[in-house]
Amino acid sequence: MPFSNFGLETPILRAIQKVGYTRPTAVQAAAIPKIMQGADLIAIAQTGTGKTAAFVLPMLHQLFHFHLQQQPRGIRALILAPTRELAVQIMENIRTCGQSLPIRVAAIFGGVEEEGQIKSLRKGVDCIVATPGRLLDLIGRQNLDFNPLEMLILDEADRMLHMGFLPDIEKIIEVLPRRRQTLMFSATLPKEVESLARRFQHHPKMVQIGKRSNPADTVSQCIYEVPTHLKNALLLALLQQPKFQRVLVFARMKDGADRITNFLKLANVKVAKLHSSRSQEQRLQALQDFKDGTVQVLVATDIVARGIDIDGVSHVINFDFPVNPEDYVHRIGRTGRAEAAGDAISFVPKQDLNLLNILELFIGQRLERKRLRGFDYHAPVPAPLPGDKQAPRDWRKRTREMEAKRMAKSTETTPRKQPKKRR
Ligand code: AMP
Repeated sequence: MPFSNFGLETPILRAIQKVGYTRPTAVQAAAIPKIMQGADLIAIAQTGTGKTAAFVLPMLHQLFHFHLQQQPRGIRALILAPTRELAVQIMENIRTCGQSLPIRVAAIFGGVEEEGQIKSLRKGVDCIVATPGRLLDLIGRQNLDFNPLEMLILDEADRMLHMGFLPDIEKIIEVLPRRRQTLMFSATLPKEVESLARRFQHHPKMVQIGKRSNPADTVSQCIYEVPTHLKNALLLALLQQPKFQRVLVFARMKDGADRITNFLKLANVKVAKLHSSRSQEQRLQALQDFKDGTVQVLVATDIVARGIDIDGVSHVINFDFPVNPEDYVHRIGRTGRAEAAGDAISFVPKQDLNLLNILELFIGQRLERKRLRGFDYHAPVPAPLPGDKQAPRDWRKRTREMEAKRMAKSTETTPRKQPKKRR
């Protein structure tokens, strides 16, 4: 079915052509007609399936209609998303698909100064993309008029609930008009999401694309069995191959991400990092540098595993094997987005083989085992690189030292200092 069958306004069809979408993805084909009919909708779709455009296109169509009817500007659509990164990405999608439309959008999320956001709200907007916490703050202090609201969209509803946003979402919905269209997008359908739908939607239609546990079909997956001390060297060897052009590397912990980044910098690889201790500006800058190709590698923890849309990621490398199979599915969903092909590579040291077994059961598929030709899998523990304070000279010695320190602490007899009372 071509996009022209949906009855979308001509400027939107033109923008779709410009962006280069030739035909709708499965979730778009299933969801857009239902949204255009005005129905409430629950769409269960993995990220990477084109779900953002599935709600952005019909939303723009509706907003444009109000403009054609010369209705005064007002907040007619509200999109709630779990993270600032996802909110920014949705904004970008709205801007590209609505490039020639007179539609104003504001993004409201924490971690940056409120001033600019309040200013853009005062100018008047048709649509708000927001994370629940900051929006609720502003609702408390600013005079936001939600009376014109026609459409509420909850993106990644399961994740918002998982992050504890339910009370905020409930309070926000309380100030919205009851007569509205409510769309809910979610990667999974846990009971909590169903209950949210029962409370806030009206006879919702349902669209389900693909099985929850199956990574996108366009991603080719493999593993490299490699000892922990050689993961850095294997990463570098892979990155030196020409096809590894835009590589997203996942670490389990923040300090791990720092260590990988430092190692790659010392090896002259252009790299940026993204984790929760980075400021909002640093995060956006890292994403920007990765998107525009200033850096070849983005090292990240799981905060970006969901929802972030980075076009043309050639490879996802799980430097640290994910503990949770669902994280694996979300991590590798960063490559092979929409119809493009991508590679997902996981490093599996011996101690993570049990996690690999669990994952293979979860996705119902045995991952291909690969070995890099010419790589010495039996090399000894390398000497630390200059400046790499964490690189251990001898893993066993270091573990013994840490264990001894821990024991000494636990047998301390001196009473602990009382923590200062917080005021
Ligand atoms: P999403 O699942 O919304 O995060 O989208 C994943 C990627 O698919 C984004 O890079 C979109 O720009 C892209 N995309 C969305 N719809 C289409 C389409 N119909 N054809 C090709 N790419 C698309």
